Amino acid sequence: MSNLVWIELDAQAPDHNMNEIRKGVQRDVLFCAVVKSNAYGHGVRQVVPLLKNADWFAVNSLEEGLELREIGVKKPVLLLGHVPISQLHDAAKAELRLTVFNRETIAALSKIKAGGPQVRIHLKIETGTGRQGILPEQIPEYIREIQDADGVMLEGVSTHFANIEDTLNYDYSHRQLTTFKKALEDIQKMGENPPIIHTTCTAAAVLFPETHFSMIRAGIGVYGLWPSRETFLSATMREKSVPDLKPVLTWKTRAIQLKSLPEGSFVGYGCSYRTTRKTRVAVLPIGYADGYDRSLGNTAYVLVNGKRAPVIGRICMNLSMIDVTDIPKVTLENEVVILGRWGNEVISAETMAGWAQTINYEIVTRISPFLERKVVNSKDRAQG
Ligand SMILES: *Cc1c(COP(=O)(O)O)cnc(C)c1O
Repeated sequence: MSNLVWIELDAQAPDHNMNEIRKGVQRDVLFCAVVKSNAYGHGVRQVVPLLKNADWFAVNSLEEGLELREIGVKKPVLLLGHVPISQLHDAAKAELRLTVFNRETIAALSKIKAGGPQVRIHLKIETGTGRQGILPEQIPEYIREIQDADGVMLEGVSTHFANIEDTLNYDYSHRQLTTFKKALEDIQKMGENPPIIHTTCTAAAVLFPETHFSMIRAGIGVYGLWPSRETFLSATMREKSVPDLKPVLTWKTRAIQLKSLPEGSFVGYGCSYRTTRKTRVAVLPIGYADGYDRSLGNTAYVLVNGKRAPVIGRICMNLSMIDVTDIPKVTLENEVVILGRWGNEVISAETMAGWAQTINYEIVTRISPFLERKVVNSKDRAQG
């Protein structure tokens, strides 16, 4: 860990984003904030206290769920992933809600909970994502198993959309929704009426009210990022109010050396960059170990004094180099924005994702958990 590289989190932005997403959602629908993978790289310990209006939280693993309990989260916490059969006891003890898609889980839960308080489970239905979830034709056997299991309560039913972010054609999503509704009917016919029905990601929550049921799950939008260009475009074309999402995260560092290299000098491993003029180089103490992807070498820009400076040479494990020849008054330990805004210039997660040939989700999620996260009030910020 180095305090020369850090993350600043806008204290007001997460709540603002939740309110923006909520605008298109009926008041009685619960809001489940997805804070898996260290709150999408933002820092779960810093972000969760900023989400005072979330009704539920969702994470992937048991360990993440236990961490939420450890930091004092009393609200319902849903585990989206698989909990090892041998650790179901820990999940039940912490009153974490389980997403269930294996019969072995139900059988094991009924054994550990005999006589104890109820374990609340959410049955995940496979509607076309080909990921976790039980096939619709397996519903009768699963429901029977749940009904026979002592101390196991079917609290929720869920599914997940496969192809809502990637296209402007929502036929596939609507087919998934139809399959899900039919599955719900089948469950209800067997005498179960679980109160928490949920299907959405941010894109579905923003675009399709018919997917909301009793709870929306939203991750990326809470962090002020759009799931995709297509989602933004669809929201814009709908002419309803478009959520005004504010990115929560700024990624910063400081220049640790400045020097002028003569024309024709090589920069970085592999000598992949060669100066074509006398070049003022700033060395940055950030590298791929921090989550600054190696593909950004010779490709990305950073912001220095409100201007773009190109990354030159390859990204090293802990270091990168930038060209600041055209930026006046750069000093030792000058602040540098890797991702975020400085004045009128911005390097968005989407821009960086374009450079790294990935998506904004991966850019933020892979920021090293070892970097310091500071919560700042937007009004006190030096820049932006
Ligand atoms: C990650 C995840 C979400 C959140 O998706 P966003 O696109 O980030 O809003 C919702 N549901 C499930 C099951 C997920 O795994």
